[in-house]
Amino acid sequence: MIGEGLQAVNARIARAAAAAGRDPEAIRLVAVTKTHAPERIEEAYRLGQRDFGENYVQEALEKMDHLRARLAKEAAAGKAAANDPAGRPIEWHLIGPLQANKTRPVAERFGWVHTVEREKTARRLSEQRPANLAPLNVLVQVNISGESSKSGVPPGEALALARAIAPFPRLKLRGLMAVPEPTPDVALQRARFRAVRALFDEMNRAGLLLDTLSLGMSADLEAAIAEGSTLVRVGTAIFGVRTPARSAA
Ligand SMILES: *Cc1c(COP(=O)(O)O)cnc(C)c1O
Repeated sequence: MIGEGLQAVNARIARAAAAAGRDPEAIRLVAVTKTHAPERIEEAYRLGQRDFGENYVQEALEKMDHLRARLAKEAAAGKAAANDPAGRPIEWHLIGPLQANKTRPVAERFGWVHTVEREKTARRLSEQRPANLAPLNVLVQVNISGESSKSGVPPGEALALARAIAPFPRLKLRGLMAVPEPTPDVALQRARFRAVRALFDEMNRAGLLLDTLSLGMSADLEAAIAEGSTLVRVGTAIFGVRTPARSAA
């Protein structure tokens, strides 16, 4: 079931990339696993998926522990190489809001944070990133459709925030992330993604070295890829509809 979902999403990415004249390899798929049991993440891992997105820190830490224990057991049994021929480790992406008092476990255990919207949070992440790990990849979240969502900085403030956090030594500022208000209107989806892309280009012209545009989910990944997304965050289309049981954690 997860295998079919993953295959279908990878096929959608490939088709959308082809339609846009883009290399599908340039688009990273982050499998969004919020509310889903660790066994389902493990199943996706067995199928080769390596990037996973979680919204809630505590929930994510439990799943990381589960996966780590499972994989350590295999490594001890000498089976790791068979299950991980590419040798690529799991990368965890925090895609939900981050409170300033919860940065430490995030700095210690995630590879990416998509939701930076304050200099203070970024500074703490940099200070708390362990020296033995690569710098933490971060994205500035932009509030593109303005209204309902309170997450993200207004587009007019993104460049200043990016300039403030780019020098932090233990962070690597990679780009922008946005979650536009859902709409079935594909032209409107594209217009909103295009606005984020324009901001991204403007920031690169201003001298920032950004390479990641985190845009697109189950319902709108084609529009996002058409407008230049390099990373899509997909849950429902891989794992099915979420039951809300754990979502308020
Ligand atoms: C839940 C979530 C997703 C995945 O949404 P689907 O519609 O299930 O693909 C992507 N990005 C963010 C920020 C999310 O919270």
